[in-house]
Amino acid sequence: MDSRAEKVKRLQQHYQRRDDAFKKWAANGYRYHDKPAHDPMPDDLVDLRCEATTRAGTPCKRKDIYQNGRCKFHGGLSSGAKTAEGKARQLTEYRHWQEKQRMRTNKIAQKNAHNEW
Ligand SMILES: [Zn+2]
Repeated sequence: MDSRAEKVKRLQQHYQRRDDAFKKWAANGYRYHDKPAHDPMPDDLVDLRCEATTRAGTPCKRKDIYQNGRCKFHGGLSSGAKTAEGKARQLTEYRHWQEKQRMRTNKIAQKNAHNEW
């Protein structure tokens, strides 16, 4: 019997195979007859659980797990952008958000100034 870590590794390989097949299909322009064959999930990975320790001290029972082998509650936070390109994109979006916030507060201030009459 495999340990959980080995099962998670096999789950990641399964997802990777599927992603590769779909990328190849996308490169071909999603031609109907090149559609990748259905690759069923191996039977022993179907019921793979999250098994993170919950606040009650019991293992998590959720089955809807991501590639890292954890559910949406136990996967941890994003560690942020890694590449210089990603960091630049993040900064651009942050500046955009800041500008929007500034315009919003200005609008509220104008409204309040108008209502004082
Ligand atoms: Zn969980």
